[in-house]
Amino acid sequence: MMLENNIQKLSGYIQKFRSSGVQNRIAGQDIDGAGGTFQTISPVDKSLICDVALGSASDIDAAANAATQSFAAWRDMPASQRRKILIAIAQGIEARAEEIALCECWDTGQAFKFMSKAAIRGAENFRYFADQVIQARDGQHLKSPTLMNITSRVPIGPVGVITPWNTPFMLSTWKIAPALAAGCTVVHKPAEASPLTARLLVEIAEEAGLPPGVLNTVNGFGDDAGRALCEHPKIKAIAFVGESRTGSLIMKQGADTLKRNHLELGGKNPVIVFDDADLDRALDAVIFMIYSINGERCTSSSRLLIQDTIRDEFEAKLIERVNNIKVGHPLDPQTEIGPLISQEHFDKVTSYFETAKTDGATIAAGGEAIGNEGFFVKPTLFTDANNEMRIAREEIFGPVLTSIPFSTEDDALAIANDTPYGLTGYVWTNDLTRALRFTDKLEAGMIWVNSENVRHLPTPFGGVKSSGIGRDGGDWSFEFYMEQKHIGFAMGQHKITKLGAL
Ligand code: NAD
Repeated sequence: MMLENNIQKLSGYIQKFRSSGVQNRIAGQDIDGAGGTFQTISPVDKSLICDVALGSASDIDAAANAATQSFAAWRDMPASQRRKILIAIAQGIEARAEEIALCECWDTGQAFKFMSKAAIRGAENFRYFADQVIQARDGQHLKSPTLMNITSRVPIGPVGVITPWNTPFMLSTWKIAPALAAGCTVVHKPAEASPLTARLLVEIAEEAGLPPGVLNTVNGFGDDAGRALCEHPKIKAIAFVGESRTGSLIMKQGADTLKRNHLELGGKNPVIVFDDADLDRALDAVIFMIYSINGERCTSSSRLLIQDTIRDEFEAKLIERVNNIKVGHPLDPQTEIGPLISQEHFDKVTSYFETAKTDGATIAAGGEAIGNEGFFVKPTLFTDANNEMRIAREEIFGPVLTSIPFSTEDDALAIANDTPYGLTGYVWTNDLTRALRFTDKLEAGMIWVNSENVRHLPTPFGGVKSSGIGRDGGDWSFEFYMEQKHIGFAMGQHKITKLGAL
């Protein structure tokens, strides 16, 4: 019944996309893509959702010009007024949370169970950074013997935001909210596979009073619109979320214009379970952190490192629970896993089922697709694996967990760190000194002990090694979107060395 209700509501919400498609939004105007259109399909049944503007370099140029023209007025608007607009955007998101959630599910295949909260988290991002607006420009005074030195921060200028297709609404707000709070203007290039909710966001923002041109949305593909955004001389920085190899391209493409880049990239994150842990809670967290959000989650714990003393018992319970996970229509509120985003991604994820067998691992659960109407796969568990196997080294980015046994703490640490990535780590132990020792040596930007990933906006979010450069959250976001400025005021007649004055 709930499913039918949701399907009916969705058809109302996507009617407008069906009739007019998703256009680019530049300087407050709907603009066709210079390259024509491309189509977005639903991963649920491969049906056409709508046409989308195919943006290219000339659209990016128009959007960068709009962001440049609107920059000074937005930067100089009193902070209290900018704060009000950001709060109004949060309220607009909350008012349209259901529409955002349903469109996101249909566009990406994510389950309603999780996406119904994603819109609210998007609103929280705006509220949190709205509250930081007033002090964002504050600095320090650093007195020296002859000078009063002060620092202040100013917004860096128009910035580009390039986002991926996994939880695209939440991730876009996470980047765009601090950029606007800092006083920057934005050109947003959403992922080609998930354009719907980026359109809703710019609509909501303008309705909330954001001046035209402060947020511009250009749809299209990475190697065209995305590249042009990185290369554009008027764009001062790129905030990017996506794959590690795309992160390298972002840096190369921005080199000629000396772009500042913030990169949030991939992961192959370990969850380490020691035999002294609360194993029931560890089991819940292990399952949640790889099978929620379809496993299409940068922070997912895709490598389980399990102590050999508890391995058989833990894996047996894991298999039972994984086989029970409900895969189904993403709009059914009971569904825990929906379809993967696209044919290309489905082919990638399912290819690892063969890879696992070739590598000599065991497929202990799942390991197959479901039907061929949409991009559905069974939640999958590989056991009898080691850290040399491709299933332990490569980011699969689906509901696929690789279980690797270890015997000692040193083994666990060596395996955990033997990866090119370093985004998150999860440690389960009731031994406090071990937890301190282990987390001190674990190579990851974010670590949780006896917990799943719980995001707290004032804390730093980001990765080390191939998982990224830079941090989001709290003041770290402003460090990226703003420039530090130093001004020294002489306090007297200090000696100035005279040249050419004999
Ligand atoms: P992707 O790198 O393929 O694409 C991300 C975005 O970059 C898209 O908008 C795409 O069009 C654009 N792009 C592609 N090539 C480009 C180029 N040459 N220049 C400019 N833009 C370009 O990533 P994806 O497949 O959409 O997303 C999944 C990846 O994102 C995974 O690796 C995941 O781990 C990562 N991710 C990381 C975080 C994090 O915070 N660390 C969060 C979510 C997702």
